[in-house]
Amino acid sequence: MSFTSRIDYAASVYEKYGVNVENAINSLKQIPISIHCWQGDDVGGFDSRESLSGGIQATGNYPGKATTPEQIMQDLEKAFSLIPGEKKLNLHTSYAIFVENEFVDRNEIQPKHFEKWVEFANEYFITTGSGKFFRNVILDPEHSIGIVKINDKGDSWKVVWGLENGARPTSEFPTHFMNHSVKKSATNNEYRVIYHAHPANLIAMTYTTPLTDKAFTKALWQSATECPVVFPQGVGVVEWMVPGGTEIAMATSKLMKKYDAAVWAHHGLFCSGVDFDITFGLMHTIEKAAEIYNLAFSSGKIIQTITDANLRAIAKEFGVCLNEDFLD
Ligand SMILES: [Zn+2]
Repeated sequence: MSFTSRIDYAASVYEKYGVNVENAINSLKQIPISIHCWQGDDVGGFDSRESLSGGIQATGNYPGKATTPEQIMQDLEKAFSLIPGEKKLNLHTSYAIFVENEFVDRNEIQPKHFEKWVEFANEYFITTGSGKFFRNVILDPEHSIGIVKINDKGDSWKVVWGLENGARPTSEFPTHFMNHSVKKSATNNEYRVIYHAHPANLIAMTYTTPLTDKAFTKALWQSATECPVVFPQGVGVVEWMVPGGTEIAMATSKLMKKYDAAVWAHHGLFCSGVDFDITFGLMHTIEKAAEIYNLAFSSGKIIQTITDANLRAIAKEFGVCLNEDFLD
């Protein structure tokens, strides 16, 4: 029995007892797993170079264990990349990080001794600059893009590289940032790209098609046979709003929990994916379908289309699960 057929088999057994395995795994993905820092270095810590004494240590001095904060952070990063779901790091006082030759006893530990750990929890993004051109990213990256560090609370950021001469991150930074965080947790850190553009045909569709997830998804699915395979969950639609602010960011991220693409009425499209090729491909497929839709629609004589039965047949053949909310 292959790995996937074992999972299918297990899921069918659980289903008999009323447990939906996919839902269970999805809710588990949202629950942070607490990981103890001392699993990285045998309870050694950094506030003392003396050997361990007393109570709980039991793991022994294994070869190659982390001996510096940098090593334990690298090990944790590797472990986090392999352990599914959200993680919390449980940090003991003995993991305080002192500057060279500094030492204070545990009753004198201050927040500054954990600053490096707070930094470790920060997230980094590459973002394009506001008013910059994609064409120049490859020619002049320092002025066109930047690496931005977000603090652990996610409420402030600073540029750590690029965006030179006072350039600022894209005006849609709130939406990009919020969607990164939504997609990251919804996909177990797999989605790394949020891409926003103004594809003309899709924007044109927002003048002729009702602004609902169903109307857009159905129109696009029916416009090219590849569409239900490329975006089987469908697309979401955000009604017209002033761009650049929190309101539109919230509305978009609500949709991005469910979909990989969100249409902004009379404005453009947001897409997300594991890498830039996949994400660009999704944007391109949607825009191509929109172009076909507009051509057919403007001819004024559509006499046939891809039916729901056809869509179900495609899904079956290509092994994708179509969003049933959009089928009749
Ligand atoms: Zn825009």
